[in-house]
Amino acid sequence: MASSIHTLIVGAGIAGATLARLQAEAGRSVLVLDRRPQVGGNCYDEQDAAGVLVHRYGPHYFSTNSDRVWNFISRFTAWRKYLYQVKALVDGQLFDFPINLNTINQFYGKQFTSVEAQAFIKTQCPTIPNPTNAEDQVLRQIGRALYDKFFLNYTLKHWGLHPRLLDPEVTARIPLRFDQDQRYSTRRYQAMPKAGYTNLFHHLLDHPKIQVELNCDFLQNRTAFHYHQLIYSGCVDAFFAYRFGPLPYRSVRFAFETLPLPYFQDFPQINYPNDFDYTRCVEIKHATGQSHPVTTLMREYPMAEGEPFYPIPRSDNQAIYLQYQQLATTVPNTFFVGRLATYRYLNMDQVVLASMNLHDRLEANQTVASG
Ligand SMILES: Cc1cc2nc3c(=O)[nH]c(=O)nc-3n(C[C@H](O)[C@H](O)[C@H](O)COP(=O)(O)OP(=O)(O)OC[C@H]3O[C@@H](n4cnc5c(N)ncnc54)[C@H](O)[C@@H]3O)c2cc1C
Repeated sequence: MASSIHTLIVGAGIAGATLARLQAEAGRSVLVLDRRPQVGGNCYDEQDAAGVLVHRYGPHYFSTNSDRVWNFISRFTAWRKYLYQVKALVDGQLFDFPINLNTINQFYGKQFTSVEAQAFIKTQCPTIPNPTNAEDQVLRQIGRALYDKFFLNYTLKHWGLHPRLLDPEVTARIPLRFDQDQRYSTRRYQAMPKAGYTNLFHHLLDHPKIQVELNCDFLQNRTAFHYHQLIYSGCVDAFFAYRFGPLPYRSVRFAFETLPLPYFQDFPQINYPNDFDYTRCVEIKHATGQSHPVTTLMREYPMAEGEPFYPIPRSDNQAIYLQYQQLATTVPNTFFVGRLATYRYLNMDQVVLASMNLHDRLEANQTVASG
């Protein structure tokens, strides 16, 4: 196996591909391994049998506030400007989600101004100064009625756990708005890669100093590789042979359905908090902008088993992770990055930024070591 590799990278997701590019541009020889048959990690997209571009591992909408991330990723793709919007179906009606002034007025049958809505919602909320779980976090913000209809059952389905058993951060990142802003995210840059994510990854990895080996599980071939440093973006518990026990994840089954219509629904994403076994139905064509006579829907069925998608945010799981994190600092010339290796739900842009920062640290150390 390649003996002159400077940086071995495990994982061709956005963490691994970003680091591969930066390391290669710094003159390092890089080998990227992935156990899947394709690059892109969970951002992977492809045309299905009907020719519709689909996201195989869940819908991915790119957004960031970081100029640094935006400028870097923009070197490898042209963009299609796209503002991501979500609706929630509750009691047979579609509502704006995250909850905004329209949602509140429609739900309560009122015509509140922003100030009136804030005052009204305040009367609905119990006083909970220091929320210790996801239920309290929502109740103190929006009150019982909206919580019951929009959050309780969605959370039960998504996590398989009652919100009282989850950390407050689960719901803390969902905004509550008293204006009519219907965007899911208010980040400065919001767009979809014009030719898709897989195309973006091929450009990112297209460098003479980068080799890519697919269908290769590093953990089953550890001794086959010789390298100066290792960057690992797989599951941290697997790296250490589950020494402190497995880190729990929630998984999802994606059910695809192609229909002989240009569009099935009026919105890219509809959440179903209370109906059906699936949590959401996504028609990604709205976001990709593909013009095609047929359409493909993707419904998400949360599962206990399967690919590790969402780290389960509970303090006992975090305590296990901290043991792995500590152990990870003791492995020479080995660096852990990305959502699986740091056991955190991270958006793509956060992973890119973390990868850029890691690259900077590695190069700074290299300069000191050789200086
Ligand atoms: C359903 C869903 C929807 C999402 N939607 C969005 C969104 O809209 N916007 C957004 O910004 N973020 C979104 N995300 C988050 C986004 O997917 C992550 O931020 C991103 O994929 C993390 O990149 P990564 O490189 O850390 O991990 P991954 O993409 O998981 O890549 C890790 C790679 O490592 C490989 N690997 C693991 N172990 C080994 C091994 N032992 N040997 C070889 N290869 C290995 C895997 O096969 C994988 O390809 C979503 C996530 C999910 C689950």
